[in-house]
Amino acid sequence: MNTQWEVVIGLEIHAQLATKSKIFSGAATAYGAEPNTQACVISLGMPGVLPVLNEDAVRKAVIFGMAIEAEIAPYSVFARKNYFYPDLPKGYQISQFELPIVGNGHLDIEVEGETKRIGVTRAHLEEDAGKSLHENFHGSTGIDLNRAGTPLLEIVSEPDMRSAKEAVAYMRKIHDLVRYLKICDGNMQEGSFRCDANVSVRPKGQIEFGTRAEIKNINSFKFVEKAINHEVERQIEVIENGGRVVQETRLYDSDKDETRSMRSKEEANDYRYFPDPDLLPVFVSDELKAEIKAALPELPEAKKRRFTTDYKLNDESATILTASRELADFFENVVKISGCESAICANWITGDLSAALNRADLEITESPINAERFAGLVARIADDTISGKIGKQVFEFLWNGSESADEIIEAQGLRQITDTGAIEAIIDTILAANEKQAEQYRGGNEKMFGFFVGQVMKAMQGKGNPAEINKILKAKLA
Ligand code: ADP
Ligand code: MG
Repeated sequence: MNTQWEVVIGLEIHAQLATKSKIFSGAATAYGAEPNTQACVISLGMPGVLPVLNEDAVRKAVIFGMAIEAEIAPYSVFARKNYFYPDLPKGYQISQFELPIVGNGHLDIEVEGETKRIGVTRAHLEEDAGKSLHENFHGSTGIDLNRAGTPLLEIVSEPDMRSAKEAVAYMRKIHDLVRYLKICDGNMQEGSFRCDANVSVRPKGQIEFGTRAEIKNINSFKFVEKAINHEVERQIEVIENGGRVVQETRLYDSDKDETRSMRSKEEANDYRYFPDPDLLPVFVSDELKAEIKAALPELPEAKKRRFTTDYKLNDESATILTASRELADFFENVVKISGCESAICANWITGDLSAALNRADLEITESPINAERFAGLVARIADDTISGKIGKQVFEFLWNGSESADEIIEAQGLRQITDTGAIEAIIDTILAANEKQAEQYRGGNEKMFGFFVGQVMKAMQGKGNPAEINKILKAKLA
């Protein structure tokens, strides 16, 4: 048998909303506090306490919905999802079920040069659970309820992805977007952004989906890709060996690079969802929608379009520069302050600056070179005061110090030499000292030209104007 298999993937992404307090109480949401110092009676569901909805969580959900061109429900309802787990002492999670706040949106991803639209079925508000701690408890488990009640936006995709690569591209896109919108800090190590991957396979050409397995709680892009690929192989093997994939929840073990069965898949009716009697429905009025819409920042796609048309950037640069709002602002400031062509500004930002930030593991907001000092560098390269090569040296000084590019160029004597008389004198000396090579060049060995450029540049400590050197050398070697 030689069946061609098609992979089908849908992701459920959990993004913790960056609100100061919890979704139904005033307790703090900050990460890393002493265990249980932020566990409040509401998150614990003590008898007699009443949850009160945090308006900021609602606003952030609406912001997200608008950014993916989704429907914002004028009326949505919180429901209790009943299940027992030690990190959920009240016995139910408050979530949204039949009437979520955000429905039916979409997002475009790019994979291998192709753009593909991924549907977002819904995004609903819910509370996070606590955490079980297995270290330091000698055979017991510790429970930290600080995280209980932290607002989550669960973003559910359509089963539209057809490879692990597409799933990663989608997850990254959502990750960029929630940070861009400043509704989630995106910190994956701290669990602020994580996903469940639903994976199935079907013979190519078959209309019906295969049975899916759900891989829980993946908190890195690398693991999503590995976990999905691994699960796809497992399912194909099961089917090709005459077995059937069972619908179940699996756990990805990154140490062993395998998925293991956790439990058979529960159905919605296992949870006995019902509307939470302690919470009013959420009304999002037209006024609130208008207010949020007016305050919405320019969205990444629109910004990217503007960068390609107004600044004439190529698609790649525009994508990189608009992935974060701060980087886009930095670029626009550099263009404005330097007065230089956008292409040279983009090149130096996406090139040397981005590389240095990556190496130092810094965000653009933490860059040791601000837009003004960076603009100073680009301006001196653009007006030929220094060459691009010397620009890299100046960049190092800018990175490690506090002077301006002009101060560095003067202090280090890096100004480019364009004085043709000076260049000519040096070229004459070098030609005189290398007669044999000159003969070879004139005899047709064109590679010798590079040798002479190198010699002249060396003699001028890299400061000779390359265009002038080429011109004069050509004339003298003719
Ligand atoms: P549940 O609430 O039980 O997890 P949903 O129907 O809400 O189930 O689907 C959860 C996710 O699973 C969605 O992202 C959806 O796109 C995806 N999904 C549904 N069916 C399949 C399938 N056969 N293969 C892969 N993904 C699927
Ligand atoms: Mg699910």
